[in-house]
Amino acid sequence: MSDIWIMRIGHRPERDKRVTTHVALSSRALGARGIYVDTLDEKLEENVRSVVDRFGGDYQIKTGVRWQSAVRNFSGKVVHLTMYGERVDEALPKIPRDEDIMIIVGAEKVPREVYERADFNVSVGNQPHSEIAALAIFLDRFTEGKALYSERHGKLTVVPNERGKTVVENPE
Ligand code: SAM
Repeated sequence: MSDIWIMRIGHRPERDKRVTTHVALSSRALGARGIYVDTLDEKLEENVRSVVDRFGGDYQIKTGVRWQSAVRNFSGKVVHLTMYGERVDEALPKIPRDEDIMIIVGAEKVPREVYERADFNVSVGNQPHSEIAALAIFLDRFTEGKALYSERHGKLTVVPNERGKTVVENPE
């Protein structure tokens, strides 16, 4: 499977701290390799790294990265999630599986240039909803659900359980 990167644009540290944290954590859980965030936010980096430290994997976060430079330095296909885009079920078969992808999600109004630069403008339904929901559904479909229970080799492993909570501490 190719690498999946997220580019989060329009992040306002005070207003969006919770949503952007969830964009990062959801994308990590659903198979992405890392996230770029346009506005510098050290606290956000710290929070996400703390989860990665405990639960494993090599998910990366970098903030203060303009989308233009992230895209310029990226070799692969750029997928912009927007309710105005083509249907996800029609777009998915066209997105190559042998190239990395960078998925752009917005916060408020997304600049016109993003629509023009994207290789694919993809909608997850044609109703306005949330970047977290759109990303989760897109990633789950793109990875065919394979990332959900993949091993991350962290300090802690949560073991699926019909009832109760089972968390195993792994030796260092
Ligand atoms: N009104 C904004 C605009 O026109 O770009 C969208 C704001 S929405 C709260 C934030 C982000 O959620 C969008 O930039 C997009 O990435 C994502 N999003 C929301 N609804 C979506 C949908 N139906 N399909 C795909 N992405 C969606």
